[in-house]
Amino acid sequence: MKTTEIHILPVIKRIPSKLNYLLLILLIAAAINLSAQEKKIALLYPKNTLALPTENTNWLNDNFYRWELFLIQNKYNYEVIDDDDLETGLPSKYALLILPAVRNLNDEEISSIKEFMNDGNSVLSTWSMGVYGSEGKWKGWSELEQLFGLSFISEISQTEASRIHSIFGGTPLSSNIPPGFRLQVTTYDKPVEVKIISENTYPLGYWLNNEIPFEGKELLERTTSAVYGNYGKGNFVWFGFEFSAVVAAKEHQKTANTLLNNVISWLTDNLITQIETWPGGSKSAAVLSCDVEFKFDFINNALDLLEEEELPAQFYVLTESIDLPSFERIKKNGDVGLHGDDHVLFKWQDYATQYNRLSDGIGIIEKLMKKKPISFRPPETYYDDVTINVMEDLNVNVLSSDFIEDRAVPQFINERNQIIIMPKTGFDDYDIFQRLKIVNIQDQSQRYILDFMRTYEEGGVYSLNFHTQMQCRNNFINALRKPIEEIKSRNVWITTHDKVFDWWRKKDKIKLNSIRTDDKNYIIEIENKGEEEVDDLVISFYKKDFDDLLKAQILLEGRNVDYFSDVNSKKLKISIPKIYSREIKRISIGSQ
Ligand SMILES: [Zn+2]
Repeated sequence: MKTTEIHILPVIKRIPSKLNYLLLILLIAAAINLSAQEKKIALLYPKNTLALPTENTNWLNDNFYRWELFLIQNKYNYEVIDDDDLETGLPSKYALLILPAVRNLNDEEISSIKEFMNDGNSVLSTWSMGVYGSEGKWKGWSELEQLFGLSFISEISQTEASRIHSIFGGTPLSSNIPPGFRLQVTTYDKPVEVKIISENTYPLGYWLNNEIPFEGKELLERTTSAVYGNYGKGNFVWFGFEFSAVVAAKEHQKTANTLLNNVISWLTDNLITQIETWPGGSKSAAVLSCDVEFKFDFINNALDLLEEEELPAQFYVLTESIDLPSFERIKKNGDVGLHGDDHVLFKWQDYATQYNRLSDGIGIIEKLMKKKPISFRPPETYYDDVTINVMEDLNVNVLSSDFIEDRAVPQFINERNQIIIMPKTGFDDYDIFQRLKIVNIQDQSQRYILDFMRTYEEGGVYSLNFHTQMQCRNNFINALRKPIEEIKSRNVWITTHDKVFDWWRKKDKIKLNSIRTDDKNYIIEIENKGEEEVDDLVISFYKKDFDDLLKAQILLEGRNVDYFSDVNSKKLKISIPKIYSREIKRISIGSQ
């Protein structure tokens, strides 16, 4: 708190200095409470839905109380209303209406919801909202479709057991959620999948159409059950599933909880502040990554292409196969990591064996490079806890594995945040040749592009992993041309795994602290808690009423600052070209 400068509340200046600190805290606390208390959340108890003979009343009641518990646990200021209240129209004390699995909505209620949104208020709704109308008659999907700009596709069958729904980074609802998180949703209550048909509605992610990512079931036209957007002057969020359907695993529960809090924060018009995932605010990252192993000299085909395209790559070298002239060329085209001393699995070997093998391999590369490699892609990508201990002891920082992770961005995997695991975000050439049996290079290109595009939209890192003895062959290397063109044509940071680690480690030390000083004024502190300076940081801002942001006075360290406003995604971005170790920078956003 000591960094909360006095000038944000001029009235404090006149208070004797001893009292400053305590009073300041109290006043800020009061200011925050006041603004939060101004407007309330209305939670609808679905009385009319429960009265329908077709409905599972136990489930609906449980579901309602789960929502209420969520609001209580997160200390929201809410009131329970019922269908009769909604029918007569919502008073202006409410800013947000929550409709949990409200399947029965009569015409008066629908008009009331529209009026509420037209007045600039928000709606959060789930599942098959309003499929029954007056007197409990089946009405179908038209209300849902019309209010939220959707087209109904299907109710997902219970027999599927569960499916993966990705969650994007770079949206107003993405704070503190790893981009491309693969939320696993059980299908016992038949989630509703839709397509978006309005330009005022945006996906928060997509269904991956299977339980495990990368089964190859992905469709070109994707469906979603998580959308946000605006209707009239109001904003809405709709989920086609209930949050009780998210699997019980800790990370999934945590993500679902964070997501719901983000949703409420945005819908109640808080300022949303995020650090952009990638340097310079790039939408995603991409790494061309090659296992340089058997047929070592085939790497020259890839190097011809990389040099022509002027692109770096990540090379994972099998030291027993090194061909020196080829290695000399590799050195000039990116970063070199280790794929192993030989191709025998590390997994299941004892500590001493794994330690000696990793340290031998690193030693060989270090000698040739005059620089210690920091990245490791174990043979067959298999590893175990011993491998991670050995990496920690030898200061190797990047584990590139094909074990499917729950997100599209790297993740720290040891306590000291010194090792990251790179996620698998697409098929590699082994999958393409051996599993999917795609041998035509046009089709191979398309497959790579499909995975890249998904990761791009998610805001994650796409690693195009290939091997010397497969994709690098004369007849197949050109399958990489079109994916490279596609990657280059977009706002993508094309880099190496080594550099992704460097960025991830530095970004991890950046902390944001947003202080709301009154209804319309905010101070955002950006602190670099690390030992090194960080370049190319971009901070983004969202607000339900984007016009408020466009009209606001925005100052960085008290001076006017250039910012970039993206009207389509309703995002405002501010570049911080450099922030030194232990430095705090302040952005103030306020009404003029
Ligand atoms: Zn290999």
